[in-house]
Amino acid sequence: MKLSLPLQGYFDLLKHQPGEKKFVCINCGRPVAGLYRQISSTVLKIIDCEKCKKPADKYIEFEVLIILIDLILLSKPANRHILYNSDCKNLWKIGVILILLEAYCFWTDAFGGITSISYRSHVNDPFLSERGFYLSTVHFVAGFVLLYGFIYLFTRALHRTVPQVAGNGKTYPHMLLHGVILASIVKFLFIPIIIWKENATETGMAIHIVLVLMYFVISLVQIHSVVSDCARSRSCLIVMLAFIVKAYFLTRVSVFLQEFI
Ligand SMILES: [Zn+2]
Repeated sequence: MKLSLPLQGYFDLLKHQPGEKKFVCINCGRPVAGLYRQISSTVLKIIDCEKCKKPADKYIEFEVLIILIDLILLSKPANRHILYNSDCKNLWKIGVILILLEAYCFWTDAFGGITSISYRSHVNDPFLSERGFYLSTVHFVAGFVLLYGFIYLFTRALHRTVPQVAGNGKTYPHMLLHGVILASIVKFLFIPIIIWKENATETGMAIHIVLVLMYFVISLVQIHSVVSDCARSRSCLIVMLAFIVKAYFLTRVSVFLQEFI
């Protein structure tokens, strides 16, 4: 079964010149020259990694749906396949959609169960009401930049052997940015809140939001561990520190933004 073309496009293999070490083994993360060898016009064979001796990327034979399921299950090899061996040049569009989704949830007070910050104007004016959405969007853009920035800074400070250039030739900040966006995909689970907001209790919505955020943090720890090539315990420390410091600064930003309502 093939998924629709726009989604399929995100999982296309990167195209490199033969001989370039721009792919990565999804099991151990080491660079490999290629992912498959053409035996005949109809037969392809997956290349084994020289280091771990396992197939370098088994996902090139898998359907997109299987890869998505493994991504949901927070599989490290699936994350490596998407980040290093797939063409995810449109990942930033998913990031923009997610920021707008969160901003909309915030603007409609769907997150009221876990935060007292609100950008809704009490004056019944459509212009002021719409401005609240833009302020909410600025809030989440600032939140994303702060989270990414602090994860980068804490990684530099606490994990000195961070790879300068990833196995596929891209720089570490570039790969970390892709990783943070990929981890944010779990925030699509906020959509049921918008759909069933009218029929859910405040407590129920708060539990839903906290569970999604916990899933996001676990996903971010896993992806940080892949991109930074460090132990999960250290990734957990870096991500948690970044979240705490980000929350502190974001509260300051929200106090400033609320003056414009
Ligand atoms: Zn390997």
